[in-house]
Amino acid sequence: MEKPKVAVIGGGISGLVCVFKLLELKEQNKKDFEVLLFEKEMRLGGTIETLEKDGFTLERGPDSFISEKPWGVELCNKLGIQNEIIGTRNENRKSFIVRRKKLIPLPEGFYLVAPTQMKAFLRTPLFSFPGKLRMMMEPMVPRNSSDADESVACFLRRRFGNEALERVGQPMLAGIYTGDPETLSMTATMPRFRELEKKYGSVLKGLLQAAENKSEKLKEAGGPRYSLFLSFKRGMETLTRALAARLPQGTARLGAGIKEISRDKFSGPWRIVLATGQISVADAVCLTTSARSAAGFLNNTSQSLSKKLGFITYESVATVNLAYRRDPITHTLDGFGFVVPRTEESVLVACSFSSQKYDFRAPEGAVLLRAFVGGAFGREFFNRDDGELLDKVKKELAELLGIKAEPLFTVLRRYPDSMVQYRVGHLELVKEIENEVVKCPGLFLTGSSYRGVGIPDCIADAERTAARILDYLNRL
Ligand SMILES: Cc1cc2nc3c(=O)[nH]c(=O)nc-3n(C[C@H](O)[C@H](O)[C@H](O)COP(=O)(O)OP(=O)(O)OC[C@H]3O[C@@H](n4cnc5c(N)ncnc54)[C@H](O)[C@@H]3O)c2cc1C
Repeated sequence: MEKPKVAVIGGGISGLVCVFKLLELKEQNKKDFEVLLFEKEMRLGGTIETLEKDGFTLERGPDSFISEKPWGVELCNKLGIQNEIIGTRNENRKSFIVRRKKLIPLPEGFYLVAPTQMKAFLRTPLFSFPGKLRMMMEPMVPRNSSDADESVACFLRRRFGNEALERVGQPMLAGIYTGDPETLSMTATMPRFRELEKKYGSVLKGLLQAAENKSEKLKEAGGPRYSLFLSFKRGMETLTRALAARLPQGTARLGAGIKEISRDKFSGPWRIVLATGQISVADAVCLTTSARSAAGFLNNTSQSLSKKLGFITYESVATVNLAYRRDPITHTLDGFGFVVPRTEESVLVACSFSSQKYDFRAPEGAVLLRAFVGGAFGREFFNRDDGELLDKVKKELAELLGIKAEPLFTVLRRYPDSMVQYRVGHLELVKEIENEVVKCPGLFLTGSSYRGVGIPDCIADAERTAARILDYLNRL
């Protein structure tokens, strides 16, 4: 009997982890099957893209992964690249928010929109006095007894007031999801705040309690401790390169864009149709591309699934890396970067001071900045041509940071329709999608479109999916 075949579509972090885990499970379970990875581009890594140029290490896509969710660090340990991990620079822990064209430091102890250190909070010029009073009243706001999802804006306005939403909540969330808080789902994007409200009746009370518990735990804990944000000495691509290096030869097919996947009357093997017209067959198919692409592949197989996948929406973003000499920049750059509220009407959504956040990003005497552009409120800017967009970014950075020289070089990278928007009801929609997928045996979906956008979430979901694929193969 021929051994079963699994086709994984998309060679970003989700696809690579899915294949890596499948190979690990194959070994552990002494189960014989073949795994093939189909990637449209001529490189693996997807959104994770590091570029080394003139002594600078640039991230075009993600620049960090968080340590709070352990799956990233666990994978690094497994791959033997834990010594490559770097934490953020201790001396520059501040973050800034733009207010009236100036950079204001986020007060110490601020957790998204929740102030946990009163002294620092009361001194900040970020909020008006009535705005501060309203935020401090959060513990007195009655808890919402309904389990129904609500928008992030609704939740933050209800618990902390409009000023907290506009001046901090919206820009902080935009730095992660580049979305509109009026449409983003609270349960899918900020589940922790919802849980704290449920458990303690107040986010602030819950955070203070959690901080107490954490300091107790830290006293007891051994082993290495990481900062919240992590990267690698030679950039984020260290992770995807290490995964790619573990794939046996012939596993990954590059330049292999998929056009369609189908199956005869829901039985027999899956047919994978490539853009070239070539056809490959597999017993199980795992789609790790965006839900939007998946909807296209499945249109002729399950219209109801394809339609539901099509309800998941995306925003386009671009990153601009700018390398400067340090001298002509007046600002102290003593932080990780800044976010910009939409009320500032800026081209910038956020900017990381990459070389201040991590070591090994710029040569001595130089600085690397990375601007984030586009998203729900920046579609018009995203659509401008390269020259216009770069000029606007450079001009605004020069004004905000007091930069008196042109950059040494810039690198613009556009990611069209790349930022998934978990809109209100997202988790319900994912459940409905899962119910449809069950009707297509041998079909699996993972990737950032469904159960978490962060790299550790993608890793965890891809690993779980690989385990489900093995389970399916065992039942064939
Ligand atoms: C600019 C930016 C910055 C980010 N910053 C961070 C960050 O700092 N930290 C963090 O945790 N997360 C960050 N994210 C989110 C995170 O990078 C992504 O959620 C994650 O990398 C998604 O991985 P993925 O494998 O699911 O998808 P992708 O990386 O998008 O991979 C999908 C792959 O499928 C391939 N593909 C598409 N269509 C086809 C086809 N028809 N046939 C075959 N292959 C196909 C693509 O070429 C791609 O390689 C950021 C995202 C962006 C866009």
